[in-house]
Amino acid sequence: MKNDLPNCARCSFKMSERMCKKEDGKAPPYCPTQNRQELFEQCLKEYKKPEVLEFAKQASIQEGEGYGQKELGYSHVKPIKPRIQEVIEFAQKMKYKRLGFVFCVGLRKEARVVEKLFSSNGFEVVSVVCKVGRIPKEKIGVRDDQKISIGHFEAMCNPVLQAFVLNEEKCEFNVLMGLCVGHDSLVFKYAKAPCTVLAVKDRLLGHNPLAAIYNIDSYYRSLK
Ligand code: SF4
Repeated sequence: MKNDLPNCARCSFKMSERMCKKEDGKAPPYCPTQNRQELFEQCLKEYKKPEVLEFAKQASIQEGEGYGQKELGYSHVKPIKPRIQEVIEFAQKMKYKRLGFVFCVGLRKEARVVEKLFSSNGFEVVSVVCKVGRIPKEKIGVRDDQKISIGHFEAMCNPVLQAFVLNEEKCEFNVLMGLCVGHDSLVFKYAKAPCTVLAVKDRLLGHNPLAAIYNIDSYYRSLK
């Protein structure tokens, strides 16, 4: 590995001493804050675009509003909002009227609840399930033995069509829930409006992939 390849995950300094946190902070050789100055100008230009500026500003305001007890000082702050509330509030801040909502058929019960929450908060909702289009998996080269239900018809997840429907309906902000690894990537690739994720899919861990990370030294040590 090139040793100046950006790698914040391996940063060797205490958070409070890092260059990205402190004006005269320290930086390892692979620090993008130190090594990628030429990209700063470029990113600042992007933030000057009114739509990007507004989006970034409202996201930061939403972030700040996610904490309580700020008046008591940094060591006292505590989280006060679940993500679903943040998604709704952020979309309201951005004055979006129409939300796209793409979800996995395996989370259809949850989708019903989420759709109602969006609608009752004043949004028009366009929701599209993963199996939309009913295209057989064989169409994309999946063999019968690679399917879940071997020997039976199985519709492929169709993130490209999910995105096309949201685009056609001119959704202003898209919310993903429970899409598989890779299917979510194709929604990101094809959706025209900005996307956020309410929940990712983790079939084994109740849609909480970090459970494996939190238990990496015990039950999930074989992953290391
Ligand atoms: S930006 Fe630099 S100082 Fe900050 S975490 Fe990354 S490597 Fe460390």
